[in-house]
Amino acid sequence: MKNLVYYLDKPMGSFTPTEEEIGEPGPGEIRLRTLRTSVCQSDVVIYTQGLPRIRSWPAVILHEASCRVDAVGPGVTKFSPGDLVALGCDIPCGDPDCIYCGDHGTGDWTSCPNTQATGHEFPGFARMYSILPDWFVRLGPIVKFGPGTSADQACHLEPLACNLEGMTRVGNCVENRVVVLIGAGSQSCYALQSSLALGARKVILVNRGQERLGRVLEDFGNEKVVGLRWEGDIVGRVLAECRPFNEPHFIMVNASAEPAYRLATSLMGSGTVLDAHAGVKGAQGKPRIAHEIDLNRDIHYRLQCYQATHGSSMRGIALAAAMIAGGRLPLLGRMTGLSERFTHQRLGDALRRAGDRDSLKVIVDWS
Ligand SMILES: [Zn+2]
Ligand SMILES: [Zn+2]
Repeated sequence: MKNLVYYLDKPMGSFTPTEEEIGEPGPGEIRLRTLRTSVCQSDVVIYTQGLPRIRSWPAVILHEASCRVDAVGPGVTKFSPGDLVALGCDIPCGDPDCIYCGDHGTGDWTSCPNTQATGHEFPGFARMYSILPDWFVRLGPIVKFGPGTSADQACHLEPLACNLEGMTRVGNCVENRVVVLIGAGSQSCYALQSSLALGARKVILVNRGQERLGRVLEDFGNEKVVGLRWEGDIVGRVLAECRPFNEPHFIMVNASAEPAYRLATSLMGSGTVLDAHAGVKGAQGKPRIAHEIDLNRDIHYRLQCYQATHGSSMRGIALAAAMIAGGRLPLLGRMTGLSERFTHQRLGDALRRAGDRDSLKVIVDWS
């Protein structure tokens, strides 16, 4: 049968729709019909400047997807035609004996030296149909949703999973506590919704630009949420909002810039957990951002915790799936306004829109 695949020829290039033959799924395989793809900031980076992880061009990008199971191969029992599924980006390496990704591995796929991801080393979902290999179907990250979840909601699975990995890697720092989010992009927007769902006492959102900050506060804020423009004595203003505590309990860096790390480390107090969620990368590579910590006074006696997460494993995927299916993030749909919805014929426009300063989540409709 015929498939429609969009190849991006090169960074800053164009998407060429190509008609290709696609076969029936083999033993253990499933064929998916793409329903929605949402656009990640990493897709915008690939689109505008490329990424060393994309080893050959033209490339099939986009990794945030919800799909309908279209056909299943012999031996597949987990999925049936008609199932709504969503996928993660970090995937097993495909070696069944791998100590990270294999049948008896730890599940820490991103630690595998042969780590791979959809829309990167493995083709993404800028295509109407795809066939997943048996190891992908067996080991994940693929989740089935019931009739209560829409294709729009399901395509938030991957970015939400990445967010929840960061928010839950260390326990006891969100529920009934003060959370500081640096940046007001989509990851902070997920973090804000998740913090409230997880029972945070207060969420302080810090952002340089008013446009996005205002949008997030208006659409997702409530009496527990405070937004601060990043100007003046921002450290003093954040700490004032933390009262009666002397410091925040959890800080998530969701802005890819050195000043975000400077601000985060200035806010570290007693018992604060910092999640270095957004890495900093430029044309010159990854800059060194140095910060001195006293392992005795800061880490041992003041119980500070510096951690990071990027990507997601099956753990984050399962957490995100439960939150979406359980209706615990009822405002997810507000992340995509009318100007952030595109049909697959307008992939380039979708990628450009996702790069705008005021956009949160661009969704591409393949139905
Ligand atoms: Zn993503
Ligand atoms: Zn592996």
